[in-house]
Amino acid sequence: MKRAQRNAAADVPDSSTGAAASCALSIKEAAEVIRAGGLVAFPTETVYGLGANALDPAAVQKIFEMKGRPETSPLIVHVASVEMARELVAEWPPMAEELARLWWPGPLTLVLPKKNLVPDNVTAGLSTVGVRMPNHPIALELLEAAGVPIAAPSANRFTGLSPTTADHVRAAFGDAVPILEGGPCTVGIESTVVAIADGKLKLLRPGMISLGEIEHATVHIAEAAHPAPGMHQKHYSPRTRLILVRGASELPDRTGAYVWRAALGPAARAVRMPLDAAPYAAQLYRVLHQLDAENWPWIAVEMPPDAPDWSAIRDRLTRAAER
Ligand code: AMP
Ligand code: MG
Repeated sequence: MKRAQRNAAADVPDSSTGAAASCALSIKEAAEVIRAGGLVAFPTETVYGLGANALDPAAVQKIFEMKGRPETSPLIVHVASVEMARELVAEWPPMAEELARLWWPGPLTLVLPKKNLVPDNVTAGLSTVGVRMPNHPIALELLEAAGVPIAAPSANRFTGLSPTTADHVRAAFGDAVPILEGGPCTVGIESTVVAIADGKLKLLRPGMISLGEIEHATVHIAEAAHPAPGMHQKHYSPRTRLILVRGASELPDRTGAYVWRAALGPAARAVRMPLDAAPYAAQLYRVLHQLDAENWPWIAVEMPPDAPDWSAIRDRLTRAAER
């Protein structure tokens, strides 16, 4: 596993360091922008977020405009503590307490009935709100300095690849959004989203915390059922055509880029990925951003194993390949 990781890292060097050091934004400045109703991009352990004061509907509206995101897609509200989350929700059942105790700060979003103070545009008109305490020191410092919950989807244009470095955010928004720099995201794909209603859990979006792990920790779990609002079929997509293959024999020809977990393949460009799910997830978007920028006629990704560890990654790849 270690070798595969190193190889992939060497194939696609991390370009997140250095670039904008000269105009670095401080946490204090970023907090002021948030409090004044502006947008700030900030790092979390999952992906970079495009944040606004979650209690200010005009600020939240700017997120939708900047991303080109449909207003039917609810936003996750980031908090610095369980206490901050409880100020936003009408109920905080034992299940929420337990999940937060086990996984916060971390890549787990809890969807619960909202209080009226949460603006309707945050939740796309739903009566529930998704809350999460991110496991990233800069995100937590920003939340504490701002003193308000921060609504934030991924800091990319709607349906595009999510950003896992500050450079990815810059590529999407240029100078239009100030960015708090925080290095590459360690988890690398979006949080697991679960709704809690009537003491039951429903998986709305798979993530690196698997349903299996959550099932271990709780008594009642419903089937993974309704897709979350905003779970558009096409999502997380590079501009380049992305196809999923079972092996090298399914490549269209030799002219494109092949992303896989084995030895070198018969393609013009091959990127070898880690054998394990966690390091694979941490690199996936960075690899796809890089290959997208290289303008290959296609990007083929070997579909990873049909196993619980890989379900979130398979979900994102399937959406990336939808057309
Ligand atoms: P993104 O901000 O792009 O990472 O997407 C947020 C994810 O959380 C989407 O899959 C939403 O559907 C889900 N989500 C956020 N808030 C809610 C909510 N109130 N009800 C259901 N799903 C939600
Ligand atoms: Mg997104």
